[in-house]
Amino acid sequence: MSEEAKLREEICVLAKSLFDRGLTCGASGNISARLSDGTLLMTPTGSSMGFLDPSRISHLDANLQLLSGDRPTKEIPLHTAFYDTRNGTGAVVHLHSTHSVAVSMLPETDPDNALPPLTPYSVMRLGRIKLLPVFLPGDAAMGDAVRGLAGQRTAVLLANHGPVVAGRDLWAAVFAMEELEETAKLTLLTRGLKPSVLTIEEVRAVNKMGQRGTVNLNGSGRE
Ligand code: ZN
Repeated sequence: MSEEAKLREEICVLAKSLFDRGLTCGASGNISARLSDGTLLMTPTGSSMGFLDPSRISHLDANLQLLSGDRPTKEIPLHTAFYDTRNGTGAVVHLHSTHSVAVSMLPETDPDNALPPLTPYSVMRLGRIKLLPVFLPGDAAMGDAVRGLAGQRTAVLLANHGPVVAGRDLWAAVFAMEELEETAKLTLLTRGLKPSVLTIEEVRAVNKMGQRGTVNLNGSGRE
């Protein structure tokens, strides 16, 4: 099987897995992945993640011209912003996952560090998560906001909308997205209960283990 055919299949299998677990519903959410020749595969506009057809996945050249498949998602600027600003980005996943969206709406959420460092894996896979403002659906300004981060963040949370996560390949991006949603769930479950988050030293030790980016505890860690 060619690299392209394999990646088309994997996008559909992983998208269905996310959909079946209730991580995004209806026709929400989108996935893109980069092939080694620099072209992009992307889920089509209006498609449901639970019912994708590998042959209809959008294939775009480096200038975002459609090579085959259906027209791509309208949220394409979100995806290209990560590929253009983060070296080594191989895939981008965007969902409308419930717990992450809930966290994005809470007044106490720190826009520069939207989820507390509750678990080593969330720190390792996600680093600090930036909360971005509310945008109208399909607004290209979403992409501009991601570009404004200059490739410093792996994951962002669009307020009242959903998370966007970049990874070195499709599996890494999906696993990081799952970690983000689980951490958002833990954040809500432990909200107001004074959970013991990782200490600054623990976060440093995790970061040393090869994670990209850093976590700024901003005084929220145990001392
Ligand atoms: Zn969306």
